[in-house]
Amino acid sequence: MAPVALPRTSGLPQSQIFADHHICKNPESHTHAPQKVAAPKKTSTKAAPFDDLVLTTYPEDSSPIPLSWGAAGPQARGPVVASRYHDGLTKHNSIGAHSGSYCVYHALAVGSKQLDPYHVADYTNSQPAFSVPEQKSWYNAKDIVAMDPFGHLTPYLFDETSKTENVEIRPTIAITKATMQLFEMKDAVANKRLEVDGQVVLNENGDLSVSKVAVEPVWYLPGVAERFGVPETELRRALFEDTNGMYPELVTRPDIKVFLPPIGGLTVYIFGNPAFVSDPSRKLALRVHDECNGSDVFGSDICTCRPYLMFGIEEAVKEAQQGGSGVVVYFRKEGRALGEVTKYLVYNARKRGGDTADEYFHRTECIAGVRDMRFQQLMPDVLKWLGITRIDRMLSMSNMKHDAIVEQGIPIVERVPIPDELVPPDSRVEIDAKINAGYFTNGKVMDQQELKSVHGRTWSDIE
Ligand SMILES: [Zn+2]
Repeated sequence: MAPVALPRTSGLPQSQIFADHHICKNPESHTHAPQKVAAPKKTSTKAAPFDDLVLTTYPEDSSPIPLSWGAAGPQARGPVVASRYHDGLTKHNSIGAHSGSYCVYHALAVGSKQLDPYHVADYTNSQPAFSVPEQKSWYNAKDIVAMDPFGHLTPYLFDETSKTENVEIRPTIAITKATMQLFEMKDAVANKRLEVDGQVVLNENGDLSVSKVAVEPVWYLPGVAERFGVPETELRRALFEDTNGMYPELVTRPDIKVFLPPIGGLTVYIFGNPAFVSDPSRKLALRVHDECNGSDVFGSDICTCRPYLMFGIEEAVKEAQQGGSGVVVYFRKEGRALGEVTKYLVYNARKRGGDTADEYFHRTECIAGVRDMRFQQLMPDVLKWLGITRIDRMLSMSNMKHDAIVEQGIPIVERVPIPDELVPPDSRVEIDAKINAGYFTNGKVMDQQELKSVHGRTWSDIE
């Protein structure tokens, strides 16, 4: 079937925007449409306000802009186009929306009429503050499956395509520079652990010069499915059903291979010359850190997150000062990607249940069903995108992170545990349980019996 030509609606009042975007009134007429995905039946005799809304699209009504993941060049690869606006409804080649979870705020801004959905971004002066050297991995469909390797270059690579095809093409990566002020770094300078060099450590206050990269998730579904060892169809079905039908195109558009999931992204913090990160003759120190807002920002002492993060930054800075480079990657995977509500429920169950290290993981499993949902399989992509080929000092004890990185072909020379003196008083339960479960240590691995004697604080201790 030939693609249906849609009228352009740019400039129309909001109330008419969707009225003219109608391509599919009768989903049952589509032979490729899965039977279970159909427009919901009306249950009211009142006129529905969304009669003309397109619930999903189908291949036979669409002519997506070609997107060939892993192709030999950016133009051959093609842009990631997710937006429905302008001609995007028929031409989009990606499922989901930009900005991860913030897509909902974008929708609120449009819905509350504070943002014109047809706003055209002006990217003047927003280009990367430093260049990330192009890597072979950017052109390999297996190496990078969880981010768009050209996401920082889209306004420059695909501006013409955006105009000729009348679609919105947005960056998914941004690259900048900044200065960081952290109490721990001031302390490190005061106690002679760090030296002021005027380049990385800028002054006696411990201010750090840093290069930063923000990355939004862009998933190439066949590659993601392969990393998890499941068929792509099963992954699509789970993503569709388990999000309560949020993205029907996961099942109606098997021809579209890219998905922008509504999840948090990551930030890369580089200390030292960013060009050294991919230089195999230079040493590299790395910490991969998963978000823990309670500790990272608010200083909770129930876990080792902030102390380990600060230790990671300090060691990354030292590596940069010694002529190598230091990288900290911060993933938005709060509470082992279970979220803060689940995390606090687990805290309650622990504190009311005696909080011993032998029960640490069990408490999470009781509530969440699993002990961890961070799934490190996709984590190494950003390392490959940066051109990291060897990690000299891995500032992490996680066996899951270690194994995921090594499995993706990046060797780790040395693993550096958090120093004992940095473990906060109430977090022995966590760290000893994790070490027992396989976390790397140079120290003692307690057995299950010994873990029973490792107690956390209970509420009665502080009341
Ligand atoms: Zn934590």
